[in-house]
Amino acid sequence: MEQFASICEASGGLIARALRGDLVIPDFGRLERELRETYDLVRGDTRGATADYIPQLKRVDPEKFGIAVCTIDGQRFSIGDTNDPFCVQSLCKPVNYSLSLEEHGVEVVHRHIGREPSGRGFNELSLTADGLPHNPMINSGAIMACSMLRAHDELADRFDYVAETWRRLCGSDRVGFNNSVYLSERRTADRNFSLGYFMRERGAFPERTDLLETLEFYFQCCSIELDTEALAVVAATLANAGINPLTNDRVFNPNTVRHCLSLMSSCGMYDYSGEFAFTIGLPAKSGVSGGLMLVVPGVMGVCVWSPRLDSHGNSVRGVAFCKELVNRYNFHAFDSLTMGEDTDKRDPRRKKNEAEISVTMRLLYAASQGDLDELRAVLATEAEPNAADYDGRTALHLAASEGHVAAVRYLLVSGARPDVTDRWGGTPLTDALRGEHTEVADLLRCKGIGQPAKSPTKRTKERKDHALQS
Ligand code: GLU
Repeated sequence: MEQFASICEASGGLIARALRGDLVIPDFGRLERELRETYDLVRGDTRGATADYIPQLKRVDPEKFGIAVCTIDGQRFSIGDTNDPFCVQSLCKPVNYSLSLEEHGVEVVHRHIGREPSGRGFNELSLTADGLPHNPMINSGAIMACSMLRAHDELADRFDYVAETWRRLCGSDRVGFNNSVYLSERRTADRNFSLGYFMRERGAFPERTDLLETLEFYFQCCSIELDTEALAVVAATLANAGINPLTNDRVFNPNTVRHCLSLMSSCGMYDYSGEFAFTIGLPAKSGVSGGLMLVVPGVMGVCVWSPRLDSHGNSVRGVAFCKELVNRYNFHAFDSLTMGEDTDKRDPRRKKNEAEISVTMRLLYAASQGDLDELRAVLATEAEPNAADYDGRTALHLAASEGHVAAVRYLLVSGARPDVTDRWGGTPLTDALRGEHTEVADLLRCKGIGQPAKSPTKRTKERKDHALQS
């Protein structure tokens, strides 16, 4: 017991919340089953091809496929090749952008980087009318963000700083570096060099930027390796406003994360970003190695890895998975507006029976207040007129004990049974008599109900069963 108590204390309330069913996804087992189904469904999609601009990406087994989830409470699930490390490529962009915000603040950073979707390819030679990169989620903006990270330190220290940030974001040491990817990136970097010179010509970089060193640094950041499981924790840290849900380490400030997620929402999926925002409605970032990080703010982070890419450079299965996810759950940013309409999306954040419990509570409260409009509204939809609370008290008990004649009449015609007993064996009539509500008592007597219809003990048990079912 002592050991259990100390574990509970050390868990910072996590175990208590788990036992109470208060974690963000209360029925995590169901989510796992459904994610497995989705994995099997999406696995069949073999369209697309691996990136081929460097041999290291071209050689990756195209069949690789992993999905990992981590909630803001640290509930985790993974399936498939989730422990194979792969280079993050463009997944480094939100991280470097966030680091630049932490170091310089939003004002300074956006003197050098725009925040508009470019509507063009990720490495397109184009800048805004002001001569700035369109946003930090495409190559030009990511190179610019790199130029601002600890600019006066040695390159080795700057790299350590970024790698250490990745370690904190995923809460583990599973952060590596793929040297051959880095060497290949450097050899095939004409476009990134062009972007760098183009921006330098327009005077976009901060003063005293060393362009070649900045590009080296950018290639190194793209060559950092993590696996799908670790990247799901990174995404969960973003979903959790910058606090790693496994270690409770505050890696980024909430404002930094808000800015980062805003730009992931509008610019994170190459020139498919508008379509992605429309159909999926969640912040995400993909990279040419087939990784995709998806953030469900306040709920969970997801990473999907599958190296076959579509024509935009996004993982085919990654995008397919995201579509399935929002078809099943109300995770799209604007789904709350359509819940209750003709949608069969589920909210996995709801507690078990939460919907039924809240309808019963509405019914009981309306009855106790004699609120006829609300009673009509609740009974017209889903409520069961004989639903009871834990004590077996029904709407009719409450309306009768408060002397609400019209409510009692309405409940009776709606099918409320006057012979129900609460856990103490009391009927609505007993309540009416105790409160000296003679009109209500007459109404109930009219129904021929004076005494409990069955022995209190048996009825009470039935009521309790009913209450539980409700
Ligand atoms: N290293 C790649 C490049 O800069 C990153 C591309 C990407 O993942 O979008 O071209």
